[in-house]
Amino acid sequence: MNIILLGPPGAGKGTQAARLVERHGMRQLSTGDMLRAAVAAQTPVGLEAKAIMDRGELVSDEIVSALIDAELAALAPGVGVIFDGYPRTAEQAVQLDAILAKHGRKLDRVIEIGVDEDELVHRIVGRYTCATCGEGYHDDFKQPKLLGTCDKCGGTTFKRRKDDNEETVRTRMVEYRAKTAPILPLYEARGIVSRVDGMAPIDAVSGAIETILAKA
Ligand code: ADP
Ligand code: ADP
Ligand code: ZN
Repeated sequence: MNIILLGPPGAGKGTQAARLVERHGMRQLSTGDMLRAAVAAQTPVGLEAKAIMDRGELVSDEIVSALIDAELAALAPGVGVIFDGYPRTAEQAVQLDAILAKHGRKLDRVIEIGVDEDELVHRIVGRYTCATCGEGYHDDFKQPKLLGTCDKCGGTTFKRRKDDNEETVRTRMVEYRAKTAPILPLYEARGIVSRVDGMAPIDAVSGAIETILAKA
């Protein structure tokens, strides 16, 4: 199964993708994670993407689609994929169709995670992750059981994203509304869109996604 998790920054895409990976052995392909890795490694892609990401604008369609293509080329055909944060423009959606066809895959479902915009800023400015294993946390919604120690790996160092500040978030939301939300009708026309209430607690959102996938 190949699915897209679609939603504005902070909707819970990464959180839910991580759960699908654990439950179903699917593979999460997050262009945001790939780009951050490229920035950290100072590759040519990273050097080009850094300033754009810091402003909250979108990196070029060619760059992100090439990253996705390379990941799928290296992935065993039987492993299902969760696209997290991709596609983000109409052009990327077209490119994804071509890339999936090239790798003998098809898109089964697009799950739109709906959230209230005022809540997004709160979600994003409180977001942090374990520096060791990448597990996601939140100052108000999801603290580790033992404060300062990662539930998953026991790590004690955490990090926050540079672009998770209020000003950049506003730009990211404008980009989402202008460029990403308009790709939904394309998938709606194919009858493959399901919507979940992303304002519900994390477990409830996971439950809703499981129900959708069981029917897909
Ligand atoms: P995205 O990948 O869509 O940008 P994340 O999965 O990183 O979003 O979630 C953003 C922040 O909100 C994280 O700190 C996460 O722990 C928290 N979060 C995710 N889903 C929920 C939810 N349903 N309720 C409350 N907080 C949530
Ligand atoms: P979030 O989890 O908050 O939705 P991401 O981690 O997906 O954010 O993306 C962080 C930044 O990386 C974006 O603001 C953008 O600059 C860049 N980026 C990630 N994915 C894409 C994409 N598919 N197309 C263009 N830019 C992207
Ligand atoms: Zn950890």
